[in-house]
Amino acid sequence: MTVLQEKTYQPFTEESVLVYLEQKGFIKDRKEADCKEVGDGNLNYVFIVRDNTTDRSIVVKQALPYAKVVGESWPLSLDRARIERQALQEAAKHVPHLVPEVYDYDDTFAITVMEDLSDYVILRKGLIEGNRYVNLAEHIGRYLAETLFHSSDEALGPVEKKKLARQFVNPDLCDITEKLVFTDPYFNAESNSYAETLEETVNELWQDDALLFEVAKLKKQFLTEGEALLHGDLHTGSVFVTSGETKVIDPEFAFFGPAGFDAGAFLANLTLNFIAQQERSSEGDRQEISAYLLEAIEQTWAVFEQRYRELLKEHAVEERYKSDEYADYIVKKIWQDTLGFAGCKTIRRIIGLAHVEDIDGIEDDESRLRAQKRAIETGRHLIFNRQQWQSPSDWTAYLKELVQP
Ligand code: ADP
Ligand code: MG
Repeated sequence: MTVLQEKTYQPFTEESVLVYLEQKGFIKDRKEADCKEVGDGNLNYVFIVRDNTTDRSIVVKQALPYAKVVGESWPLSLDRARIERQALQEAAKHVPHLVPEVYDYDDTFAITVMEDLSDYVILRKGLIEGNRYVNLAEHIGRYLAETLFHSSDEALGPVEKKKLARQFVNPDLCDITEKLVFTDPYFNAESNSYAETLEETVNELWQDDALLFEVAKLKKQFLTEGEALLHGDLHTGSVFVTSGETKVIDPEFAFFGPAGFDAGAFLANLTLNFIAQQERSSEGDRQEISAYLLEAIEQTWAVFEQRYRELLKEHAVEERYKSDEYADYIVKKIWQDTLGFAGCKTIRRIIGLAHVEDIDGIEDDESRLRAQKRAIETGRHLIFNRQQWQSPSDWTAYLKELVQP
């Protein structure tokens, strides 16, 4: 097996990864190493490799040339492995402690060799279990501010920004978001998936022309506003946590888009967990868990806003970008977009393809249906009120009211 000599793309196996890493000098002797594939293999392989002679481990993530979508294959460019790796490297320039370290890559094989984060858990799973992470909001607020600001025109100037943006043209993955977030959930598309008991609610939504118009506007923004380099898929399944640390993984959807999209994705997923916890948590824990989640929503935004304002003042390339008026203008725009995109993200997780375990895993049918209806209603409110809600406390006040018995 001489993987390197062939130098054409092939999906790796647990054996050929070891051959590759041995040839590359990452491991001394493949017979002294273990390899296990841990991804779900729908889009990518994730191999965890341990060198038993040094007890060190690394991760090799490899893109597959297709996505398995409900049994069918959806072709996807391998170039997304490069995009994911370069997005991790861009983030590492500003928030190295919040992303896995990239050790190496190979674009022919569409792989990234990176830090093993096996000591971390996926945030979605941790939140479903009712865990609280004290630094989460601080970390994600900071991640958002640094990554979004440093890729903006205000930070880079238009020439450098365009040079960076051309590295992140990501048509295949954007196509997935455009369809699954902004298009399919709003008509009777084949990709949708929801229970029969939800049919009436869904039909009502499809007949809500005012809502469809607002979503069309948000889709247009997603298509055309290249404000900043986005992660592109910043849900709670793309965040790894320990009790005190946070790592953002999996930016294969990265591209230059509207800055509010990432914040919207993250806050929508906290919102979905909040709604789910009303059904999942025991009465004794509910209040504390709910309070934690609402505070996390408010604090993530507060940290983001404060840091974004500081960055504008300290690092903007033009003097006029440093004024308070300009910061107010930019922050307000990102805020309103965050609400709108959060609304779309919330609705798609109930009606569209790819749901969230937080809600789908609620065992009791009636409880799950209540959560699903609340999520759709919240999505509508986020979209419709994006110009009225002035701050995250309007959002959290709405959620508190929503779940009043
Ligand atoms: P995909 O894009 O295919 O969803 P992810 O990057 O989200 O791939 O990884 C899938 C899973 O593989 C994660 O949920 C996590 O369990 C595991 N994983 C990914 N990256 C790492 C890493 N650096 N260290 C340890 N496990 C990882
Ligand atoms: Mg992914």
